[in-house]
Amino acid sequence: MNKKLTIFISIIIVILLIGITVLTIFKIYKPNKPLNAESPSAYSDNSLSVMKSLDLYETINNKAYSKTIEVLLENNALKKEYLNIYYEIDYVDLNNFSSIINQLIAKTYNSEEINYILTYIKDDINILLNMEYIDILAFKNITNFDINNLDRYLAYQEKNTDYDLATVVTYVNIGLDKEGYSEYTEYTTEEVNNDLTILVNKYHKLPDDYVPNDLVSLSYNENYYLRQQAAQAFESLTAAGILEGVIFYPFSPYRSFETQSVLYNRYVARDGIASADTYSARPGFSEHQLGLAVDVRSSNLSDNLTPEHYEWMLDNSYKYGFIVRYPKGKQHITQFIEEPWHLRYLGIELATKVHDSGLTYDEYYDIYMKTQD
Ligand SMILES: [Zn+2]
Repeated sequence: MNKKLTIFISIIIVILLIGITVLTIFKIYKPNKPLNAESPSAYSDNSLSVMKSLDLYETINNKAYSKTIEVLLENNALKKEYLNIYYEIDYVDLNNFSSIINQLIAKTYNSEEINYILTYIKDDINILLNMEYIDILAFKNITNFDINNLDRYLAYQEKNTDYDLATVVTYVNIGLDKEGYSEYTEYTTEEVNNDLTILVNKYHKLPDDYVPNDLVSLSYNENYYLRQQAAQAFESLTAAGILEGVIFYPFSPYRSFETQSVLYNRYVARDGIASADTYSARPGFSEHQLGLAVDVRSSNLSDNLTPEHYEWMLDNSYKYGFIVRYPKGKQHITQFIEEPWHLRYLGIELATKVHDSGLTYDEYYDIYMKTQD
């Protein structure tokens, strides 16, 4: 026989022997590891015995380990008919995990929906468990979706089938599905003092005794007040208008709670509550009480802006920190008739963003500024 071949075969045999020895030692000294290589050791003994009792030992062990399966087994909650779905569900550390996924599957949620629910709805899953199946993934990309408002979204959507879901969510969050002012948020005085961006509308009320602490007079009339920053910005806006031939005058800046009461009650006496509510804020619900809103007019003889003035205001006021708060075509959101003359100060940065978004401040605030719970 060829000598080289003999040596070669000998080397192969030695290598094989060393390999077998190493593998054997490795196996022997690996504690708890059964010699049978097919055996899955990842499952706990408890799980293994439940598996056997369900006659699923082979089935489960022929698949990769699943923490979800193990937890179900340990809680004695595994249902054979759901086995394939369980494998697609990622385990999440939640109380009653087993019971929750069984209930969701029973309600016909699929694994993708369940994974979404387990990750994003977490603490509020009970809301879903207490209702029929809904298309939860339809809300997936709606950033201001609030599970606590779910039943309101569904009711509002049913009545307003022409709105898309994102609109439904925003409108309900604003409070547009409510009648009257039943559940408004009342701000504390402290919060208001520190915040130029505060939202005031029919659902967000100022404290009765709130008076801004930095009111200053406008140069046009020493009895007209705005908060300092808004007043300065208003002077700049007025000056910019003059340079472009657009002259306008302030006629209603800061108003106290008491002044607003007198005004509102006068309108109610004249036109009735329903009508007054469309154009005058109830006391406590007016931006004028913030010292950050001012009404402007084109001449001292009229309470309005000419269309040209209004256009200019829409295109330019944000550069000085003001938005037209109740624009045309948005009554169904702002809950006020169009008021081209009513400007709200937000600061240049925010006013620019709101202007560019094309949204009302009510919508913008809900979508982009509400602090997440
Ligand atoms: Zn106004």
